[in-house]
Amino acid sequence: MNLLDKLEAAAAARKAVLPSALSAFGIPIDEVYSATEARIGDRKIILLGTNNYLGLTFAPECLQAAHEAIDKEGTGTTGSRMANGSYLGHRALEQEFADFYQCRASIVFTTGYQANLGTIGGLVNPGDVVLIDSDSHASIYDGCKLSGADIIRFRHNDVVDLEKRLRRLGDRSSSTLIIIEGIYSMLGDQAPLADIIKIKNDYNALLLLDEAHSLGVLGKTGQGLVEKTGLIKEVDFITGTFSKSLCSIGGYCVSNHPHLDFLRYISHPYIFTASPSPATIASTRAALKLLRNGEDLRQQLWGNAHRLYTTLRNIGYTLGPEPGPIIAIILDDPQQALKLWQGLLENNIYVNLILPPAAPDNNSLVRCSLNAAHTEEQIIYIEKIFTKLYT
Ligand code: PMP
Repeated sequence: MNLLDKLEAAAAARKAVLPSALSAFGIPIDEVYSATEARIGDRKIILLGTNNYLGLTFAPECLQAAHEAIDKEGTGTTGSRMANGSYLGHRALEQEFADFYQCRASIVFTTGYQANLGTIGGLVNPGDVVLIDSDSHASIYDGCKLSGADIIRFRHNDVVDLEKRLRRLGDRSSSTLIIIEGIYSMLGDQAPLADIIKIKNDYNALLLLDEAHSLGVLGKTGQGLVEKTGLIKEVDFITGTFSKSLCSIGGYCVSNHPHLDFLRYISHPYIFTASPSPATIASTRAALKLLRNGEDLRQQLWGNAHRLYTTLRNIGYTLGPEPGPIIAIILDDPQQALKLWQGLLENNIYVNLILPPAAPDNNSLVRCSLNAAHTEEQIIYIEKIFTKLYT
């Protein structure tokens, strides 16, 4: 098979899952009105499938900071962090992340995807082991592949399986990096952090926790699962993204290990890509302040999450294991998922459709993501439509 034939085969495999579902992916949003409303074609829709957990995409403080940065520093840095792309703002944001987590240092990357690639690829090499949750995000899988380390998966959130695999590694457990997520993006459930830390200490391994979906969402000041559990000192490396609660684009890694800084010399995803633009950094800094002081927003978000989770469960939908801002509706097959997704869109509600092999355990998901800006009126409407579409 030549290279182009292989591409055709991959496209055909995707179409085979459900040909009519293709239009559901990458749907163009024609206009955005707010954190919860947009226009698709001639429909004004409620956005119920974004990662905008605190609803800060139009926060005046962030808009103003971005405008000022463009005026003062231009539209882009045109260079890598390693070369000409480390402005005052990039370094200030690194300090602010370190302060926020009360950690020794932090590194800012250009995307959350690259934060995982750069951190994992810098920490482990061929001959080392990565032990990852089977529901890990693609950036974790890709970082592991890039590193050349041996990749072992353990069953999702299953500490018994994790322990068994570490035990089997024998001496190699001390050159093992365990990787988990604060809130998992598919089913919206949280990692059993305390149990995992106990095992990682027993076997002398290191732990990387990706707080992409839990930053801003969990903990009093929004640090994530580390704050909710009070276990920050026990986690070796925390990665995260600016593209969800912080409403821009970029990523970070924080750690108390002095070795974090060494990543700057060896991490290709840090060195060989341009740094985030001044406007991106400025709005992220403003958003981080709002996030730290965002207890009210978190309260609003969790109120919305508990309410919709309870309603959907009472209607009869099969949901992910626990309430949270990500509410996954698990359907028997791709056709049913597409039908529900289309029904919601016809009623002016946008959610995410996730079909195999993207969803865990070959499931088909309709994934809702709530945010702090959804109003009671919007939630009532969403509940009404889900009730109408239940079969
Ligand atoms: N980690 C996780 C768990 C994610 O869900 C995502 C994005 N969905 C990323 C990392 C990558 O972040 P970004 O989109 O900001 O590159």
